[in-house]
Amino acid sequence: MKNGYEMPLPEMDVHHCNLAVVRCFDFRFREVDQHFAELFFGTKNFDLTGIPAPAKRLQSDQWVFQTLVADVRNVCVSLHRIKTLVILGHWDCGGYGGSEAFDSPEKEEEKYKADLLVAKKLLTAELPGLEIRIFYSKPDNKKLLYLEIK
Ligand SMILES: [Zn+2]
Repeated sequence: MKNGYEMPLPEMDVHHCNLAVVRCFDFRFREVDQHFAELFFGTKNFDLTGIPAPAKRLQSDQWVFQTLVADVRNVCVSLHRIKTLVILGHWDCGGYGGSEAFDSPEKEEEKYKADLLVAKKLLTAELPGLEIRIFYSKPDNKKLLYLEIK
């Protein structure tokens, strides 16, 4: 018996991709966030990383912000040559105390969208060569709806 677990070897000759996706740590959305990005952007080749409550942390924690900016510059842009950075926010985020921390679903959505817009502005200032796209996901008739915020 081997001391390990064998997996298919990933395709190694592709070293560039067009985008990087920053999502919340939350395990509940890991698979669906990844699947959304694959379908929406039409590729399985993208950098994927997680920050708890990314839109909130990127504006409230300088270390998190500077670390992400440095990693995106040094790895995603310089090495992988991405053109687009995507930030995903989601409803019922534990970083905000979940949905119960808000008076209504409308107030909750408003807060997440406002924070995503601030995060986009801060990232655009540090990473002017990149297109920054922000999305908010929420339940909608037993589906998860991803809305792009402009
Ligand atoms: Zn979250």
